[in-house]
Amino acid sequence: MAQLIDGKAVAARVRAEVKAEVEKLKAEHGLVPGLTVVRVGEDPASKIYVTGKKKAAEEVGFNSWELHPDDKISQDELLSLVDKLNKDPAVHGILVQLPLPKHIDAERIISAVSPAKDVDGFHPMNAGMLSVGKPAPRPCTPYGVMRLLREVGCDPSGKRAVVVGRSNIVGKPMALMLLAADATVTVCHRKSNLAAEVANADILVAAVGVPELIKGEWIKPGAVVIDVGMNRMPDGKLKGDVEFDKAKERASFITPVPGGVGPMTIAMLMRNTLEAAKASL
Ligand code: NAP
Repeated sequence: MAQLIDGKAVAARVRAEVKAEVEKLKAEHGLVPGLTVVRVGEDPASKIYVTGKKKAAEEVGFNSWELHPDDKISQDELLSLVDKLNKDPAVHGILVQLPLPKHIDAERIISAVSPAKDVDGFHPMNAGMLSVGKPAPRPCTPYGVMRLLREVGCDPSGKRAVVVGRSNIVGKPMALMLLAADATVTVCHRKSNLAAEVANADILVAAVGVPELIKGEWIKPGAVVIDVGMNRMPDGKLKGDVEFDKAKERASFITPVPGGVGPMTIAMLMRNTLEAAKASL
């Protein structure tokens, strides 16, 4: 029977570490990290995410601001708002909450954020820095997964890691981070033979968005299973991408959904914002 990986507890630890460093930064340099979240329009899920991010930012001692233009804002207006934030020395981190309204090209906006303030780690330059192994803000969700692995004593070096999903925000950066940690990495997608690939995984990361796509019987006995999936079911409950009840009988460690990877994303956003502020000194 697998041990559960308590993402809530690890995330609380990360936030406490950030808070302690913020106090030091204030005392030694008079610097308060600042995070601005831009939320365009009234997407209900975005509202929940942004509220969580603001609350975490205040708790760790950041200055935090939310800008909330309505969904009629033009792309040019949003670009000039981002430009203003890029130039504001009190703002160390800028996060433009996705999704954006259809008339706005999200890639244009992401690329307009200064790479130094891109605390989501989505800017193409920061994606490039990750791929060439140089320091830069890392996408928060896979960054959080790396911390969870460390917390359970799972060193990826020499292990076979299988990442299911190849999105720019989770799957691809996850694969690069595991590769940088010396795992042998396989990335799966719609054309992959999932059962065969998953059966080889010492470390499995599922980031798909299909409830229980990964069957418990595919899991290699003793594998560490990280479920990034957050699928809202008709009864309102959240389900992961892995068939949890069966997978936990084979895995050595497994993340629950909710309470696994989810809380780590915001915690690593705090870490990225702190690092951006320190880099501005
Ligand atoms: P995405 O952009 O939709 O990408 C999904 C990936 O899964 C794609 O690469 C797709 O393959 C692959 N896929 C979809 N159906 C598949 C199938 N039947 N077989 C094999 N591969 C399949 O999703 P995402 O943004 O990466 O998010 C993935 C999941 O993580 C979602 O549930 C999301 O809610 C969750 N998430 C959680 C957090 C968190 O904080 N915990 C953060 C971000 C995302 P193709 O490339 O071939 O289409």
